[in-house]
Amino acid sequence: MKKKELIKKIDFYLNKLFNINRSITGPGNRQTLKEIKKIIPIKIKSVKSLQKVFDWKIPLEWDVRDAYIKNDKGEKIIDFKKNNLHLASYSKPIRKKILKWSYVKKHLILSKKNKNFIPYRTLYYKKDWAFCCNFEQYKKLKNNKKIEVSIDSKFYKGSLNYGELLIKGKSKKEILISTYICHPSMANDNLSGIILTAFLVKKILQKKLKWSYRVIFIPETIGAIAYSHLNQNKFKLIKCGVVVSCVGGPGKIYLKKSWNKNHFINLLAYKSLKKLSTKYISNEFDINGSDERQFSSIGFRLNTITISKNQYYKYKEYHSSADDLNFVKANNIYKTLRIYEELIYQIEKVKIYENKIKYCEPMLSKYKLYPEIGGNIIPNKKYTKLDLILWILHLADGTKSNEYLSNYLNVKLSIVNLITKKLEKNKILEKINI
Ligand code: ZN
Repeated sequence: MKKKELIKKIDFYLNKLFNINRSITGPGNRQTLKEIKKIIPIKIKSVKSLQKVFDWKIPLEWDVRDAYIKNDKGEKIIDFKKNNLHLASYSKPIRKKILKWSYVKKHLILSKKNKNFIPYRTLYYKKDWAFCCNFEQYKKLKNNKKIEVSIDSKFYKGSLNYGELLIKGKSKKEILISTYICHPSMANDNLSGIILTAFLVKKILQKKLKWSYRVIFIPETIGAIAYSHLNQNKFKLIKCGVVVSCVGGPGKIYLKKSWNKNHFINLLAYKSLKKLSTKYISNEFDINGSDERQFSSIGFRLNTITISKNQYYKYKEYHSSADDLNFVKANNIYKTLRIYEELIYQIEKVKIYENKIKYCEPMLSKYKLYPEIGGNIIPNKKYTKLDLILWILHLADGTKSNEYLSNYLNVKLSIVNLITKKLEKNKILEKINI
């Protein structure tokens, strides 16, 4: 697909998917997944309501038909149908009630950042109701005596849905590509992430691959927990990944590193950004954020990075009605998509070895490596030839690229490549992505 055509397609899906009322469950998510399926062949999967997943339970499905607040004169001042952010996600139903201002005001949420914004709020695990509105709407309802509130929502036993696609490469080892589908009408967080992921995967599908790629479109947090719970055994093959979030704003590029700074996924991210001459802000791993929180937990300890364009928390439109299609443009999603594509290219190219002899040193003389190796190489003076082999064996834990070893040891990459190849030939090292 040519650049112009691709940008047009991204724009088409931005407009098509923007107004869908997504949440952690519900018909809006299934509709979104069905649209993604038109771009790439994901499988739509479901987990039943109330199923236990690790320390959590899958919530009931939530659906809304209508929700509004009318003033004394019977005018609709807040209308869910005009903007789905008006109703806090997972609000419980209220059948047309006439209420006092003093009561209603406790259930109205205003944006602290800007009077004109409608904030985005959720009540997933609270059994309460709330409307989000701008200051103008708040003023119009203030001190009204007979306010009509109606929320036509329902909770029912159904399922939590997610999309999955495994793209098989030469190696069984996998790279995870994860994004979330639980936000209603906001463009950067995270409709941009959904669309970028779909088109990134479309490109990956055309390639002959070394790695396998596991792609998931999940509701944030509970979806990641449910997916991890149901697929624990699959995680053994996943070496690292990306969590795609907030990729279409007009502002700066951010890189959020994975928890292990030296992991090759971080170094490949720097390399990709450098190759495209992209200026970026680098952030260390943090326990706040998106689904890296789950994937990095002690049980999984997966290294995942996030490259964003206007990162969550760091733009004033974040989690509000101003994160809309004026803020996010297809062209910006395209720019971030290029970075992710470059990253995939680098992931495919990278050389990473794992030492198969994990307990103590191998008996190098047995492999005739002791006297032979490096007979024709001249390593940095800092090390003897034997030192270099031992260092590589010490470091090769399957998370560090040869490029990292070269920088760390201050030895030419060609020498590291030569030694790793020789150790591979002797079946001491194993290349993790074939
Ligand atoms: Zn968010």
